[in-house]
Amino acid sequence: MARVIAIDGPSGAGKSSVSRRVGERLGFLHVDSGALYRIMTWQCLENGVDTSLSDAVAAFAEKVKIECVPEAGRIQYLVKGEEPGDRIRTPEINAHASPVATVKAVRDRVTAILRSLVAFGDLVVEGRDITTAVFPDSPARFYLTASADVRAARRQKEEVEKGIADQSAEAVKASLLARDKIDSSRKYAPLRKADGAVEIDSSNLTLDQVVETVIAALPPDWRGES
Ligand code: C5P
Repeated sequence: MARVIAIDGPSGAGKSSVSRRVGERLGFLHVDSGALYRIMTWQCLENGVDTSLSDAVAAFAEKVKIECVPEAGRIQYLVKGEEPGDRIRTPEINAHASPVATVKAVRDRVTAILRSLVAFGDLVVEGRDITTAVFPDSPARFYLTASADVRAARRQKEEVEKGIADQSAEAVKASLLARDKIDSSRKYAPLRKADGAVEIDSSNLTLDQVVETVIAALPPDWRGES
């Protein structure tokens, strides 16, 4: 049976960097579940689907075709044979992704895709509902958080470095808090700390320190120590 490390938390808490590093260390494939919600959102916008109409989004969700391929330590998503890249990381997608992610048909579709990925082997899966809804029985569940200012500063730096946008820290913080609010108050699979998940506040920790904290909390035989 494939093993799954589940990591949830709000935007900018450092989930992607931590998940990637933990995956590299242990040889588990990195799975970015947020990218699937972003692809659904991108496809809605590309095809003129009004993201504020949940029935229209639900009907469209069935039609989006996403191919999942294990590649260089992670699961790569292809739409019409191509990786979407930074087209799913724009401020526009940021603004529409959380409303799209409230739609049950979208969540069901993404959850089914995520669960099917265990066929490829051991996984580190990051998102908002991985510990609570997608893989709630995993013995390795984490809730990663950080202060809103730290999270906004990290996201802004990332956007500028990647040349995706040049928004002020305040604008990034406002967008991030708006998404947090929708993500934690939605009806289906809201963002929350799962009972029994290990909480890590990364505000004053380096990436290495967070990675070590995660690895130290894993079942011993997952760390290759048994
Ligand atoms: O993680 P990322 O910021 O890329 O996620 C984009 C959006 O997708 C989040 O704001 C959230 O609304 C949604 N999401 C979700 N459940 C997940 C992962 C992401 O609802 N497991």
